[in-house]
Amino acid sequence: MTGTSRCRMCGRRLRDAASRARGTGPVCHAKTRAPHPPAHAASATQLAITTTEEQPR
Ligand SMILES: [Zn+2]
Repeated sequence: MTGTSRCRMCGRRLRDAASRARGTGPVCHAKTRAPHPPAHAASATQLAITTTEEQPR
């Protein structure tokens, strides 16, 4: 086993070849690409909550 099968940032096991090639999982890769995600992540979460709370009668 090599260290490439694990995320070098959080240590999680990488399942897809792309992540193993990078050395980071998709989540940590997104963090690396976006150093300031709070606003973006917040709006995405809010959007998901709004969609979930929308109940059709
Ligand atoms: Zn990671």
